[in-house]
Amino acid sequence: MYHEPIKGAGAERRDELGNFNKAYRKQPHRGSDWGFTTGSEGKPVYAVADGLVADVLWSDALGHCIITKNSHDKVYVIYAHLAEKPTLKRMDRVIGGETVLGKIGNTGSASAGAHLHAAASLAPKPHLASTPALLDLFKLIGPVAKPAAKPAAKKPATKKAAK
Ligand SMILES: [Zn+2]
Repeated sequence: MYHEPIKGAGAERRDELGNFNKAYRKQPHRGSDWGFTTGSEGKPVYAVADGLVADVLWSDALGHCIITKNSHDKVYVIYAHLAEKPTLKRMDRVIGGETVLGKIGNTGSASAGAHLHAAASLAPKPHLASTPALLDLFKLIGPVAKPAAKPAAKKPATKKAAK
C-alpha cells in the first residue's frame, strides 16, 4: 500500500520518471518530483509505505537523502534534496503516510528550487540504479485522490410533501 509523500496543497506532483526536457536535462528524469511551488519548502516528507530506513546519506548532486525499504514489495525508495540531515537512523521503522522522513528542501547541486525528488527500485541504491531498473512512483502510488465533491446544495423546500 502506497501513500503520497506530501500531504495537502503546495507540493503537488510535478515531473514524472523519464521526462526528458532538454532545456534543463542532459538525460531522462531519473525519478519523480513533487513541489517547486511557493510554500513547498519545509513541508514534511512522509514515507510512501511501511518499512525500514535502509540508509541516510549525503550526495553532492542529491543533497540530504534517506532511503527506505518497503516491507510489502521490497522496493527501495530514495527521498532527495531534503532540507536537513534526517534524524532517523538505519533500521528505524517507518509507517507509510505517517512517519516524517524529513522536510522538502533544495540541497544538492542537482536541485533548482525546493522540491522532493524521489526514485524507486528493487536495487538498494535507487539513485545509482540503471535507468531501466527504476520504478515509476507516480504509478506505484496510483492516481491522486480527488478532493471529495461538495455535497449538492439542498434546494429549499418549496412545497410540502403531499400527505
Ligand atoms: Zn527529480
